[in-house]
Amino acid sequence: MSEQNGYQKHEDDQLYKLRHSLAHVMAQAVLELYPEAKIAIGPPIDTGFYYDFDLGTDAEGKPRTFSSEDLEEIETRMKRIISGKYPFEYREVSADEARQLFADQPYKLELIDGLDAGEVDEYGNEIDEKPVISTYRQDSFEDLCRGPHVEHTGQLRTDAFKLMNVAGAYWRGDEANPMLQRIYGTAWRNKKELKAHLKMLEEAKKRDHRKLGRELEIFIFDEEIGPGLPLWLPNGTIIVEELEKLAHEMETNAGYEHVRTPHVTKEDLFIRSGHLPYYAESMYPPMELDGIKYYVKPMNCPMHHKIYGSKLRSYRDLPVRLAEYGTCYRYEKSGELFGLMRVRSMQMNDAHIYCSVDQFEEEFLGVVGLYLKYFELFGLERYVMRLSTHHPKGLGKKYVDNPLLWAKTEEMVRRAMEHGGVPFVEVADEAAFYGPKIDVQVWSAIGREFTLATNQVDFAVPPRFDLTFINNEGQEETPLCIHRAPLSTHERMVGFLLEHYAGVFPVWLAPEQVRIIPITDAHNEYALGLEAQLQAAGVRAAADLAGERMNAKIRAAQMMKVPYMLVVGDQEIENESVALRKRDGSRQNDLPFGEFLALVTERVATRSPLL
Ligand SMILES: [Zn+2]
Ligand SMILES: [Zn+2]
Repeated sequence: MSEQNGYQKHEDDQLYKLRHSLAHVMAQAVLELYPEAKIAIGPPIDTGFYYDFDLGTDAEGKPRTFSSEDLEEIETRMKRIISGKYPFEYREVSADEARQLFADQPYKLELIDGLDAGEVDEYGNEIDEKPVISTYRQDSFEDLCRGPHVEHTGQLRTDAFKLMNVAGAYWRGDEANPMLQRIYGTAWRNKKELKAHLKMLEEAKKRDHRKLGRELEIFIFDEEIGPGLPLWLPNGTIIVEELEKLAHEMETNAGYEHVRTPHVTKEDLFIRSGHLPYYAESMYPPMELDGIKYYVKPMNCPMHHKIYGSKLRSYRDLPVRLAEYGTCYRYEKSGELFGLMRVRSMQMNDAHIYCSVDQFEEEFLGVVGLYLKYFELFGLERYVMRLSTHHPKGLGKKYVDNPLLWAKTEEMVRRAMEHGGVPFVEVADEAAFYGPKIDVQVWSAIGREFTLATNQVDFAVPPRFDLTFINNEGQEETPLCIHRAPLSTHERMVGFLLEHYAGVFPVWLAPEQVRIIPITDAHNEYALGLEAQLQAAGVRAAADLAGERMNAKIRAAQMMKVPYMLVVGDQEIENESVALRKRDGSRQNDLPFGEFLALVTERVATRSPLL
């Protein structure tokens, strides 16, 4: 699994070449089996490769697609091509030669036009300079391609790839274009890696947060409420509130102050903040009231800026750290909504730190330290910090147009990370519109990757809001602003934690911590007494008085992954004890109730991962 996580989109990488070469082999196999197919593009991706095909339409005018039997046939054909050990041969061609070569391939012709005009590469991505037009050929198949590839098909392992599925994909991602059939394959260096990947996928399916969310009654979506707008059920609300409590404690200890701000704000504020010019596509449309346009907020930043600016600040007051679990609304396309991971309403573990340039490094590293504390608490051992920088091409469009400040802040972040000894990788053209950011990717217990948190430096917005402080020379100075959200949004975090823990939450996060199970009705009263004592101690406990048999009650508690079950009968009443059954199957009979109470309260108070 680690190889998969270590994958870099680097073209010299052997895995990149293997995957790219398999995409070509797949296209050859498809053309041999479906000579009428039109081929589009086929790049390597982070777990394998895909290729897009157009098989024309059926009698009803719907795009023809591939069945799973077709995929098997294509896979078999690919293995035959691989065993032919055909070399991958590179050549450069003129645009006209390329047009002749691909005369009956309309998608390739469109790409050649783009290449010839110097606008796009062979994947249709925008590029800076006019490219060389080149092809790669193996056996009977020649593709428009700049490579690189393995030397010959014999270097591909027939037991280390698998065709996975077919999905519809619009040509160039545009809904106005024809729908193509995208075949996804997964490919690895060897059979063992492939097996590990397939196993991880299987495990991920079991841990799917949408499935667990339903089973454990964490959240639902409702059509009448709208897509991407989750409803937290009582169990989910408990988890959300525990996370808020955690954040509140950690932030208070780190010198943050908490604030609360409204969900709706006048248009002018978002023009001033820069959200409207740069971020309008992701915002809900405005509503009009008394002739004034109001927007629901996509972010909490401008409100916090207003709070900072509401009084005169001196250098002695800095840093000012304002935190809020703020609810935001963003317009995500319905096709992009995904369970709790991509939603339209979200509550963010937000905060803004206003500091001087001198204080920047310490504050920035303080935030990084906070992330690391959370990771330790949740048992996240693998994470990567990614420094996202701007791209000069996007200045004035995607990014605030101030090249000098970009260079300066990017260097400040780089230096802070280096001084703090925090390992990071750098990625160009992924910054926020107002400054560089650190994205934190984490891997769940089964090795699934998530982007959870961001930490952003903002040099552009404080001056727009006229934010200042009086420095020690009595002069007005503009502070820097750090935006951070280590616990992400409740939606993303709970979705992630559901998959990370497979719903088996540590005691402090478990919606129900203790289930008390009387053996017969005669023991109900004792059970209720225990319930009351546990609840009085702040433990989430419930006695199950349903008229079911004991074993059925135990199964019901196990289904909900309740950490502790206390079975009580005559003996327990006599000894003021409980028969403890833990979620992991271990048991302790005749445990004095006081000892159990001490155990559960200790686990909760220390947020222990132990049972
Ligand atoms: Zn290629
Ligand atoms: Zn912000």
